[in-house]
Amino acid sequence: MATKYVYTFGDGKAEGEAKMRELLGGKGANLAEMSRIGVPVPAGFTITTEVCTYYYDHKQTYPQGMKQEVERALKHVEKVMGAKFGDAKNPLLLSVRSGARDSMPGMMDTVLNLGLNDVTVQALAAASGNDRFAWDSYRRFVQMYGDVVLGLKPTSKTEIDPFEKILDEVKEKAGVELDNELGVEDLQKLVKLFKAEIKKQTKSIFPEDPWQQLWGSIGAVFGSWNNQRAIIYRRLNKIPDEWGTAVNVQAMVFGNMGDDCATGVAFTRDPATGTNLFYGEYLRNAQGEDVVAGIRTPKPIAELKKEMPKLYKELNDIRLRLEKHYRDMQDVEFTIQRNKLWMLQTRNGKRTGFAACTIAVDMVKEKLIDEKTAIKRVDPNALNQLLAPIFDTKKKAAAVKGGALLAKGLPAGPGAATGRIVFHADDAEAMAKKGDPVILVRIETSPEDIKGMKAAQGILTAKGGMTSHAALVARQMGRVCVAGCGALDIDYKKGTMKVGGKTFKEGDFISLDGSAGEVLADKIDVSPSEVKVALFGKGAAATKAKRSRTYQAFAKLMAWADKFRKLEVWTNADQPNQAADAVVYGAHGIGLCRTEHMFFGGDRIVAVREMILADDLAGREKALAKLLPYQRKDFIGILKAMGARPVTIRLLDPPLHEFLPHTPAEIAEVAKAMGVSPKVIKAKTAALHEFNPMLGHRGCRLGVTYPEIYRMQVRAIVEAAVQVKTVNKINVHPEIMIPLVGHVKELDMLRKEAEQIIAEVLGKKKMKLDIMIGTMIELPRAALTAGDIAKVADFFSFGTNDLTQTTFGLSRDDAGSFLPEYVAKGLLPEDPFVAIDQNGVGRLMQLAATEGRATNAKLQVGICGEHGGEPSSVKFCHKIGLNYVSCSPPRVPIARLAAAQAALE
Ligand code: PEP
Ligand code: MG
Repeated sequence: MATKYVYTFGDGKAEGEAKMRELLGGKGANLAEMSRIGVPVPAGFTITTEVCTYYYDHKQTYPQGMKQEVERALKHVEKVMGAKFGDAKNPLLLSVRSGARDSMPGMMDTVLNLGLNDVTVQALAAASGNDRFAWDSYRRFVQMYGDVVLGLKPTSKTEIDPFEKILDEVKEKAGVELDNELGVEDLQKLVKLFKAEIKKQTKSIFPEDPWQQLWGSIGAVFGSWNNQRAIIYRRLNKIPDEWGTAVNVQAMVFGNMGDDCATGVAFTRDPATGTNLFYGEYLRNAQGEDVVAGIRTPKPIAELKKEMPKLYKELNDIRLRLEKHYRDMQDVEFTIQRNKLWMLQTRNGKRTGFAACTIAVDMVKEKLIDEKTAIKRVDPNALNQLLAPIFDTKKKAAAVKGGALLAKGLPAGPGAATGRIVFHADDAEAMAKKGDPVILVRIETSPEDIKGMKAAQGILTAKGGMTSHAALVARQMGRVCVAGCGALDIDYKKGTMKVGGKTFKEGDFISLDGSAGEVLADKIDVSPSEVKVALFGKGAAATKAKRSRTYQAFAKLMAWADKFRKLEVWTNADQPNQAADAVVYGAHGIGLCRTEHMFFGGDRIVAVREMILADDLAGREKALAKLLPYQRKDFIGILKAMGARPVTIRLLDPPLHEFLPHTPAEIAEVAKAMGVSPKVIKAKTAALHEFNPMLGHRGCRLGVTYPEIYRMQVRAIVEAAVQVKTVNKINVHPEIMIPLVGHVKELDMLRKEAEQIIAEVLGKKKMKLDIMIGTMIELPRAALTAGDIAKVADFFSFGTNDLTQTTFGLSRDDAGSFLPEYVAKGLLPEDPFVAIDQNGVGRLMQLAATEGRATNAKLQVGICGEHGGEPSSVKFCHKIGLNYVSCSPPRVPIARLAAAQAALE
């Protein structure tokens, strides 16, 4: 059978249907479906996306037979609508619109009022009894056709639109300000002037022949698939170029023929809150674009009930019918022409995270969908919105309008924060102690900034990507963060930050929208979200929040997700309060406790520095003896917070230079503690310098060269476990994790040393305790030799931050300056530090998991890199059969939902 290129719809029938979206595009498929189920749709036809592909593959020509199909289809439209294309008495007018598989709002071209010419305009005037309406439609058509089909556009960004220029001149002569004040004669003059301008500038003549108009418009709409706007939109939204657009040709209906006409847009439920009420706007005697253009203020849809009760009822019935049919919230466009209702479009409506949850849960209650479908309906990342503190929407919009938007960076930690600028961690702490909200602004952050980050409401950095130190710590702490904002010019010495032509001093207020990556001037009010209050609040406020619709929906959805998911969700936490939060968020255990983050609390850092700078073993052991009680206390706190859940504690990992003293005061302090001169300390600090610290003396290499460090840490872990077990009667499950192993012999040696300490401590206490010892897989060599490594490991945990860094040979701390361009230029589909690079890093993971389990059937395998909370990566982890993912506490719900979706896909 010959390929069919054109599908008609209208009059309660259609050749296409909803499931033919690939071929007919979203708009075309839904017009067909609406027609099929008896919703009044102006008749029309859809030219398939296959024609678009052919058009580009064959020098902008059409496949054989397609023209005849269009002619046949137009006859069908004429018959259904009772009008004739190009007829001098009763002309059929058409719209020609694009329609890709996924909607690309406003990116491609549209032609309206097609079929008008010097003859048919008279007929339209007679039929409508409204000369002004007819001539205004005609001048709009000539303008649109001149722009879209004949390419008469401004030649530069600064030039004003040639048609607008003429329009302004005519308005000036007529002495009016607005388009709708022009009279019939002015409009007639405009049509003439527009046509003359087209002829002058494009050397083409505006075609009076409707068929020529139609073919010109079809070609232009196919052509607009490859305009710059559409290409960029596809890049940003990951829409493949090969999809192509369909073209929808449809009979025009008019909402602007008089007071018995109207036009509007509506959602079948509230897209912001999800409330089940008809939500939308309309205008009487208006065209579709008037509703969105903002010149006239549209009325809420509820008023239609009073103004046109019969039509409102019909519209509301259609709303209910469409929801029942599509089983999802719809976004519709409608027009009322002379008291007859027409539906122009329906599609699944875009919604906020709040609405997504509420609608999904409500629709299960209403038996429109089942639990599994509800789970699939909610984008896991949308849960961020439910948890993040919120800006007062009106106040933010007003601030932006007033020019408050300064710059954009990476949306590294979602939510809204407002506070005073502070450039140093100590100052942040001090300011927070005074009760002032703080935004910590840094060129980049390092572990020593942690206390400042904790004290701050938000963190802003000039450098660094989505897994930079600032970003991952911020998310783990649930702090708002905008990272890698290159437009910032920070001067620590002067205590200033220049951005967007303004200079800010320490203490000035700024605001961060971490969900959008925006930096804003001044203070904008925020408040904690309802779900957060329900989960963590106390007393009456919490009780009230728990009863809220949003929280109820969130809790239901989470319960369903837990029912279906196979992956466990653990958390990355290194403070008891983080651990406790994670448990509330539903974490099953701790997958990564970074012990180095504990080295900055109180005056521990002095002891840490003593340890690093000591000359010999005796000196180091003296310093380590001071650290042991601190670490033990930390571990006791975290083990208590986690109860019987597993707690994976990673031994010291980062390069030592991160702990070295820098300022004269820090140097003096350590010198005093060690009884040497500051000069000695300075010299030692210089001697420890590394060119490439990320590949230097870090990870298990520290354990190899300074075994006493790991011995102290293991001792602290076991002693803490013993104490919590005996004193608090908690059946603790600590696990010891060794970082950055590249060779089985490293792990073998360090494991034996750890086992010795474990045996020694337990022996002394005459206790038994199972403590698993495993490793992170962070180096390609570790992944490739996983079969060997697994023989001496109880578990693997993929450190995908480092594994991505080492697999790509891409510094995670420097990539922020060039990686965005890789994504923008389409070299990489996404930042590999955000979503697992499945073809590269992912293959190493799969190989390591498979070969590791082949030599050790009991091997437990998880992930603790930042990817563990990113939905597509969570799904990948499910696919390759990991046991768990571990992520920062606020991402735990996101991972639970993503894991459930993975299990259902
Ligand atoms: C990792 O590398 O993925 C990891 C979790 O360790 P860190 O981020 O502390 O290097
Ligand atoms: Mg690592």
